[in-house]
Amino acid sequence: MVRAAVLPAVGAPLEIAEIDLPDPGPGQVRVRLAAAGVCHSDLSLSDGTMRVPVPAVLGHEGAGTVVAVGEGVTHLAPGTDVVLNWAPSCGGCHACSLGEVWLCANALNGAADVYARRASDGTDLHPGLNVAAFAEETVVSANCVLPAPDGVPLTDAALLGCAVLTGYGAVHHSARVRQGETVAVYGVGGVGLAALQAARIAGASKIVAVDVSPAKEELARGAGATDYVVASDTTAREIRALTGKQGVDVAVECVGRAAAIRTAWDSTRRGGRTTVVGIGGKDQQVTFNALELFHWGRTLAGCVYGNCDPARDLPVLAQHVRAGRLDLGALVTERIGLEGIPAAFENMLAGKGGRALVVF
Ligand SMILES: [Zn+2]
Ligand SMILES: [Zn+2]
Repeated sequence: MVRAAVLPAVGAPLEIAEIDLPDPGPGQVRVRLAAAGVCHSDLSLSDGTMRVPVPAVLGHEGAGTVVAVGEGVTHLAPGTDVVLNWAPSCGGCHACSLGEVWLCANALNGAADVYARRASDGTDLHPGLNVAAFAEETVVSANCVLPAPDGVPLTDAALLGCAVLTGYGAVHHSARVRQGETVAVYGVGGVGLAALQAARIAGASKIVAVDVSPAKEELARGAGATDYVVASDTTAREIRALTGKQGVDVAVECVGRAAAIRTAWDSTRRGGRTTVVGIGGKDQQVTFNALELFHWGRTLAGCVYGNCDPARDLPVLAQHVRAGRLDLGALVTERIGLEGIPAAFENMLAGKGGRALVVF
């Protein structure tokens, strides 16, 4: 029996409960979590903006140590430190055949599985986004773990699995920021902070952080922001003023709201790139007129999981960490226990803080 944060139903509060995990079956591993980040997607799953089968154990950004392996797992052994990958690629679908593994059509098939039971009454539990990281231990497909990089503390490595891959990938793979370009990042949460650091690594000449909260300026500047704009009706104008009236070469939207996407677009220079990382709801309608689409010549791109191949990108991120270019600890504004997750959700809704990290 292990403790877990269970989502009993969409819209219901999380409950801390004991769960029974089975022994790992063929192709599976059991992992003892060291840490798990609280991501905005967990909140989106709990409130129904995104859907997975429930009751579920949420949490998809984690790292820990393999404690048992199932039949047929030969490349991992008890004692191996691993980072969880919530979007394993199947290798066989159209996207995978093109190398676009972040768009794998089968990545979330595991979410429908029953992976554990509630200890009190035997209720079937689903693993959220595959990996059920809001628990002391989890049982996952061996495809859902990657070796943890050497020289990165395991608790920090948890963040690599979602926030850092997503924010870094948005800048490096989707927007392809080049040295000397100007960048604006909308939303200073875990992903936004990673995007700011990625823009610094890319050698951006000006990095503007935008957030509704004035309280995040120090956090943003610590991650590489050279300028800070508190979001308002005049944000796009302020950003154009900071960039010789042009607008930024690249705007990265990490909020998932129509107004922020529209402002990110408006603050992008003619011919520039606007990358949407934030996951918005279906009610968030963004409108453009036909003339402006032509006139501004901008590229508007969605970006899933940072367009990352975790197996390829984790070692690169680890190199940046070891060289001191990427500061994982700087993303974390709060270390909590499982019982602190509901309050972390409240903080996210209120736009407070960076990443909350559950430390086991
Ligand atoms: Zn996430
Ligand atoms: Zn696939």
